[in-house]
Amino acid sequence: VGERLYLGMDFGTSGARYALIDKQGTIHSEGKREYPVLMSDEKMDWVRSWRAALFSLLEDIPIHLRPLVASISIDGTSATTLIVDSNTGEPLWRPFLYNESCPDALPTVKSVAPANHTVCSGSSTLCKLVSWWNIEGSNKKSALLLHQADWLLWLLHGKLGVSDYNNALKVGYDPASDSYPSWLRSQPYSQLLPSVIAPGTSIGNLKEEIRTQFGFQEDCIVCAGTTDSIAAFLAARAAQPGKAVTSLGSTLAIKLLSTTRIDDARFGVYSHRLDDKWLVGGASNTGGAVLKQFFTDEQLQKLSEQINPMEASPLDYYPLKAVGERFPVADPNLVPRLHPRPESDVEYLHGILESIAHIEAKAYNLLKDLGATQVEEVLTAGGGAKNEKWTKIRERVLGLPVSRAKQTEAAYGAALLALKGAPHDS
Ligand code: ADP
Repeated sequence: VGERLYLGMDFGTSGARYALIDKQGTIHSEGKREYPVLMSDEKMDWVRSWRAALFSLLEDIPIHLRPLVASISIDGTSATTLIVDSNTGEPLWRPFLYNESCPDALPTVKSVAPANHTVCSGSSTLCKLVSWWNIEGSNKKSALLLHQADWLLWLLHGKLGVSDYNNALKVGYDPASDSYPSWLRSQPYSQLLPSVIAPGTSIGNLKEEIRTQFGFQEDCIVCAGTTDSIAAFLAARAAQPGKAVTSLGSTLAIKLLSTTRIDDARFGVYSHRLDDKWLVGGASNTGGAVLKQFFTDEQLQKLSEQINPMEASPLDYYPLKAVGERFPVADPNLVPRLHPRPESDVEYLHGILESIAHIEAKAYNLLKDLGATQVEEVLTAGGGAKNEKWTKIRERVLGLPVSRAKQTEAAYGAALLALKGAPHDS
């Protein structure tokens, strides 16, 4: 056997990917699969589709690299929830998808959870669980809740009932005390909750039939996973407190590694645990979707080239696609401000980019005011990361070093979790 490799798989919103890395973090192979359209009863059968994508990805890994794989981990979309049979692992119900809302369960959840807890949102895992629990005739005795990543990992290791504290946050798990809180444990449906371990912890060996079918080795292990957005943060390798990742996609999201935990429901700010640190995050409604209203990607590139990033734009906007903002300003009635529009498109774009940079600066300042570790360096992911002029504008406005993250694929972050869980230097 040559150098060992570490396999990460990402089950995101638009498809599944894998990345195979060595212990230096170099990628040896990567690939992508769409979710196959598999129907049953005229509805999309997501469970079968995910399972098919998982085994397709395993088949896509070059045969000669498979014996080198030391460990595997998987991330899935946050709050994508399965209720399965606790004996067989087979789903008892269609899965609840990450963006699905169960408002019917909200009053019940609000009556048991502390005010403003992260479970008090219609799309939380706990609302999904309660919604299922309230369906008459549901098979309550032998049911078990798993998140998407837990279930896919179970297909590989075969031990039913294991989750990680990132996926379990939205079902109510308390990562600080490393337990389910008593208000949750006293509910009848708490019997469905999985046990929880740290992301990247070894769960067990890869099942023998999979190992032999695909040609993995006997010592290949399967490690606890995480959510897709945390895996994307891990990919950027911002591993010290004070390092942050700004994601400039359709919206603007920031994530900061902090030694302190911050939660503030007013701003939609909450913290995920990462070992002995906290990953603090918030998301604004501003971002690339506003740029897209005015400019094509090609125009964005051409116009940006003509911007002088050292010069502050006098234009003061609040770029939004629609009314309402959550973070860093909690105001559901905030009106988009994109006027006056100058004649020059270069000046207009400069004003918008600069204004988004001011919102980003305000966002990091708010996290600091709420008690998070002061940000020291910002890495960038998403479609806006390639804009070097914007990067320079942001450096000036934030007063911080800003650069593009080298890796931003969640699959790469999941591979780092596999590396973390693998036995070392044996
Ligand atoms: P999503 O959140 O949809 O995954 P992406 O990370 O793919 O988004 O980024 C897409 C966004 O990036 C679009 O909204 C687009 O306006 C923006 N974008 C594309 N090219 C540039 C550029 N050169 N400068 C700034 N923004 C850009």
